[in-house]
Amino acid sequence: MNAPNTEIVHCPSCNAGNRIPAERMGAASAKCGKCQAALFPERAAAHAAEAYKLRCAQCGARNRVPGTRLDAAPKCGKCHASLPTAELFAPQPVMVTDGNFEAKVLKSPLPVLLFAWAPWCPTCGAVVPIVDQFASESKGRIRVGKLNVDANPQLAGRYSIMSVPFLFIFDNGELRESMPGALQKHELMLKMAHYL
Ligand SMILES: [Zn+2]
Ligand SMILES: [Zn+2]
Repeated sequence: MNAPNTEIVHCPSCNAGNRIPAERMGAASAKCGKCQAALFPERAAAHAAEAYKLRCAQCGARNRVPGTRLDAAPKCGKCHASLPTAELFAPQPVMVTDGNFEAKVLKSPLPVLLFAWAPWCPTCGAVVPIVDQFASESKGRIRVGKLNVDANPQLAGRYSIMSVPFLFIFDNGELRESMPGALQKHELMLKMAHYL
């Protein structure tokens, strides 16, 4: 069967033809399969010129790190601790547990939107696609986490989660906001904009 939603893009460096799906057209990260050159060099350059605001887990200072420096073990300008860059661009929500909560949420370099859910909750199932899409669209700026309250009783107790779905915003190691119920994607962005 033909793949109707793809286009052939010729590499600007080696001229090899690359089959690119429609949703990847113009993507900064699209690379030539033969020589690894960026297929859309202008977009790749613009992406590298972007800066990311990473909070230091040690002193709490916010550091502006250019995209070009992310792979070079960036350090905090204030205390010189290493800035964590792992999972910065995770396109999916991070699975948050009793065990990794401190590392993934309290010490996150990005503000965190944490979605508490339970397997038996039908409303939660309806919110999952919204949260997943929000995670994909806000990667590099916001960390989105998912917390299964049934599997993580310590956190459910610590934050008195009595109903699901429930949303939390954490920033700089502290709980900033908590909201019961479901929100639309644009509402999530409005809420998180205060922390960017
Ligand atoms: Zn090439
Ligand atoms: Zn620091």
